[in-house]
Amino acid sequence: MKRINIAIDGYSGCGKSTLAKDLAGALNYTFIDSGAMFRGLTHYCIRHGIDMYDAGAIAELIQNRPSIVFDSKSNHLLLNGIDVETQIRNDQKVVSSVSFVAAVPHVRTYLKELQQEYIANKGVVMDGRDIGTVIMPDAELKVFVTATIEERVFRRLQQLKGQGESVTEEEVKTNLVERDRADANRSAAPLKKALNSVCFDTTNFTRESQLEAILSIARPKIDPEKYLPFIQ
Ligand code: C5P
Repeated sequence: MKRINIAIDGYSGCGKSTLAKDLAGALNYTFIDSGAMFRGLTHYCIRHGIDMYDAGAIAELIQNRPSIVFDSKSNHLLLNGIDVETQIRNDQKVVSSVSFVAAVPHVRTYLKELQQEYIANKGVVMDGRDIGTVIMPDAELKVFVTATIEERVFRRLQQLKGQGESVTEEEVKTNLVERDRADANRSAAPLKKALNSVCFDTTNFTRESQLEAILSIARPKIDPEKYLPFIQ
C-alpha cells in the first residue's frame, strides 16, 4: 500500500489537531502539530523577555536556532529537549501573542525548515494554517477544516474547563476570531484554502464520524487497486 502525506488546515479551534491525531492513529502515520511549534517558539521568546511586537528582536533571537521538536510519541512539544506542552497551551501570553510571532517571516522560514524534515518519508499527517499551500504543497490529500464560530467556542470552552482553566465565553471567542483574522491577513504564508483541498465543515460531526469521513477519502488514495479497480 502507498504511504501518503495528509495536510489538515483551517480555522482556530475547529478540531484540526484532533482530526489529524486520529487520522495518524488509524493509519499508523506520524502526527505533527505545526501550531505547537509556533506556540513553542512564542514561549521561547517570552522566556527571553522579547517584546512580542518587535519582529527584529524575534528574528535576532531565533538565530540561536532553538531545538523545537514535536514528539509524536507523547504528542508534546519539546523546546530544547524540555516538555513545554502545558505552558504552550495554558499560558495566556502564548495564546494571545502566538499569531504575532507567527507573522514574522524569519519565524516561518525557520519552522518551515524544521517541518519539512518530517515529510520526506511520507506517512505524515500535519495540521496548521499553511500546510497544504506552503509546507506540503504536494500532499496527496489536503483538507481545509471549518466549523461555526459558536461550535468552535463551545468546544474550546469545554476543553479549557476540563483542564481547570477559568476563561469566559467572550474571551475564548475574541481570541479565536482575532487569531483567524491575523492568520488570514498576514503577508507571509497566510491562512488560505489550498485550491486542491476538500473543504470540510465539522460542526455536526462527532469525533468518530469526522475521522470516518476523512478516512473514506484517504483510503482510495492509499489503496487505489482495491478501491478504484480498472480505472486507477
Ligand atoms: O493550531 P494552533 O491553534 O495551535 O496554532 C497556534 C497559532 O500558530 C495560530 O493561531 C497561527 O497564528 C500559528 N500557526 C501558523 N501556521 C501554522 C500553524 C499555526 O501560523 N501552520
